[in-house]
Amino acid sequence: MDKPQFKGQKYMKEKETRTLYRLTGVSKRYGSGEIAINAVDAIDLEIEDGEFVVIVGPSGSGKSTMLQLLGALDRPSGGRIEFEGRDLQALGDRDLAGLRSKTLGFIFQQFNLIPTLTAQENIEIAMAPRKLASAERVDRALKALERVGLLDRAGHLPSQMSGGEQQRVAIARALSNQPDVLLADEPTGNLDSKTGETILTLLHDLWADTGLTIVLITHDQSIAAKAPRVIRFADGRIVGDDRTFTSGREPETVGAGNE
Ligand code: ADP
Ligand code: MG
Repeated sequence: MDKPQFKGQKYMKEKETRTLYRLTGVSKRYGSGEIAINAVDAIDLEIEDGEFVVIVGPSGSGKSTMLQLLGALDRPSGGRIEFEGRDLQALGDRDLAGLRSKTLGFIFQQFNLIPTLTAQENIEIAMAPRKLASAERVDRALKALERVGLLDRAGHLPSQMSGGEQQRVAIARALSNQPDVLLADEPTGNLDSKTGETILTLLHDLWADTGLTIVLITHDQSIAAKAPRVIRFADGRIVGDDRTFTSGREPETVGAGNE
């Protein structure tokens, strides 16, 4: 019998990998009758804590639907999604909202910045549900901007920034809530390939430097080629799931006795 596992409990101290997501027979059906479509079709999947997972596949294959399910932005029509051992289906709207704002970070193709707010204000407003002291909010916003290399743009409006800079602000906004998981849906889709490359490098560095788990949908074949794990979607199903061990975050020096 599976016991629910929550952060902070003893098992967290163990070095071995930990299952973050466990999906069993997960489906998402749109419409009904003749025109019903299984955008996600009976998927079984496990994602370990700290993985960098890239999802690729043709347009309409269910990638975004899958990410919405992982992000608890939508509920599956069938099957079971466990996150950190908790069945998401059993969580009420309030718990799901808490999960989305505290544990999960989102990045989309559209940067979704508020045009009348500065970079810093856009980040601060995203922390509103957290009810932090204002000094803490400012501190987090500036640290997040620094992390994405945009401290000098804190007072700029979105219209005064390039697309790549706006996406970096969106990444900083996601980071400011100190999430455990970053879910990114084609974050380079609106950027030229060179700028897109810098965004993907930034995400990769963030992953390598922290314990963050990243699930990234991309059309970019070069990032897919470099990713530690690539899941291929077609017609709502997983048709490929390849792990390589060449570009992992494994540190060169692991603590003694950690064999
Ligand atoms: P991808 O991100 O791989 O392009 P999506 O997850 O957006 O694929 O879509 C998968 C399928 O589900 C597509 O056939 C799409 O038309 C359909 N779909 C997605 N969202 C909806 C929706 N809200 N209502 C009806 N059909 C949808
Ligand atoms: Mg999509």
